[in-house]
Amino acid sequence: MTIETELPAVKVKASIPAAEEITADWGERCPDFEPGCFCCQMWAMHDEITELRAIRALIPREAPVDAACGQPVDKPR
Ligand SMILES: [Zn+2]
Repeated sequence: MTIETELPAVKVKASIPAAEEITADWGERCPDFEPGCFCCQMWAMHDEITELRAIRALIPREAPVDAACGQPVDKPR
C-alpha cells in the first residue's frame, strides 16, 4: 500500500487550496470569470471541489450511478 492510497483525504486537501490560501496567493475572486485568468481558474477549481465534496457527503456509498458516465444518478445540477 502506498502513501497515496493510505492518505487520499490528505492528498486532496494538500492539492486543493482553501479559500483563504487562494486569496493570499492569487487575490480575491474576480467579479467575472475570465478563462485566461489563473486566479479565476483557482477559484473555479475551488468551487468545483467544494461542490463535489458537498454532493458526495449527501450521497450514500451505495447510491446508484449512471451507467454511461459513472456519476450518481441523483446528482443535482
Ligand atoms: Zn480572474
